[in-house]
Amino acid sequence: MAHETIAFVNQKGGVGKTTTAVSLAAALARKGERVLLIDLDAQANATSAAGLGEVTGPSIYETLMQEAEPRDCIVPLEEEKFDLLPATRELSGAEVELAPAIAREQRLKNALATVADDYDWIFIDCPPSLSILTVNALTAATSVVIPVQCEYLPMEGLARLMETLTLVRGSLNPELRTLGLVLTMLDRRTRLAREVAADVMMHFPRQTFNTVIPRAVGLAEAPSHGQSIFRYRPGSRAATAYRRLATELTERAGGSA
Ligand code: ADP
Ligand code: MG
Repeated sequence: MAHETIAFVNQKGGVGKTTTAVSLAAALARKGERVLLIDLDAQANATSAAGLGEVTGPSIYETLMQEAEPRDCIVPLEEEKFDLLPATRELSGAEVELAPAIAREQRLKNALATVADDYDWIFIDCPPSLSILTVNALTAATSVVIPVQCEYLPMEGLARLMETLTLVRGSLNPELRTLGLVLTMLDRRTRLAREVAADVMMHFPRQTFNTVIPRAVGLAEAPSHGQSIFRYRPGSRAATAYRRLATELTERAGGSA
């Protein structure tokens, strides 16, 4: 079994879910961990950010529709050293198509059971909603990581997200842990950013990771080059921050990487 299956979740878009999932996948892969990154967003940002320009084979859509085995959809990324289960635009249809299906919340969990032994970590990059796709991720996951953008007051959205997690624990996945909240895009020069960071740390003192991800131009540019920060700017502060976060993540997950 994979050591930990983590859903990167927040129903707000643009908070750093994809950046954090891709960067942590790359960080752990560089330490020799076996990592699978699953792109569960029809925008396919993780797929392109990880460097897969064009998806030629089956994708997460076919996996969820039970038209292909997950193993046949997974693409190894030579440069980044982790594996990717890519998404395409087609995934936007999955919502409607899954609506009448039996055990529709369990599709991803069941699919992943067939590949879990091949990985130490499985990361799921969620779409910006609390849709059936996100519920699939929360059902398949052992834990969640919640990226929070420091430029936007997040408490209302976080309260809704926490409610959803409570609902999922009550029915589909009692064991689901909250591994932590990650503060992203911190610009220490702005007062709002400092206030948001302080507010989140006050409300979630134990759950907020100590490592804060700075706003960094390298992180904004890397996706358009199809490279993780560890290829694009390995010596940057942003790379150092994500390396630290990977260490903290491993400690919280109780692992050894
Ligand atoms: P989400 O997946 O939650 O929608 P993304 O990870 O795609 O969010 O981030 C939104 C945008 O912000 C992307 O263009 C990304 O490149 C950029 N970005 C993410 N994190 C940072 C950061 N720490 N500094 C600068 N830009 C960032
Ligand atoms: Mg995203």
